[in-house]
Amino acid sequence: MPYCTECGGKLTWDRKLRQYSCQSCGMTFTEAELSAALDRLHTPREDEEEMRSRRHRDYLDWWFADKSKRKK
Ligand SMILES: [Zn+2]
Repeated sequence: MPYCTECGGKLTWDRKLRQYSCQSCGMTFTEAELSAALDRLHTPREDEEEMRSRRHRDYLDWWFADKSKRKK
C-alpha cells in the first residue's frame, strides 16, 4: 500500500476516480503523480540540500511576514 507523500497517511485506490486518495489529509494522486512524487523523494543529495535551504528561506519569509500578526 502506498503512502501519502504529504502527510505519510495511508492511500487507498479509488476505483471510480482511478486515483489514490489519502485517508488523512484528503490529497489525491493519479498513478503518474504518485510515481513522480516518489521519484522526487529519491532525488540526489544536492537537490535535497537545495530543497532544505529553500524550505528554510520559506520559513524565514513566513516568520517575518507573520511577525506583526503573531504578537500576543
Ligand atoms: Zn496525506
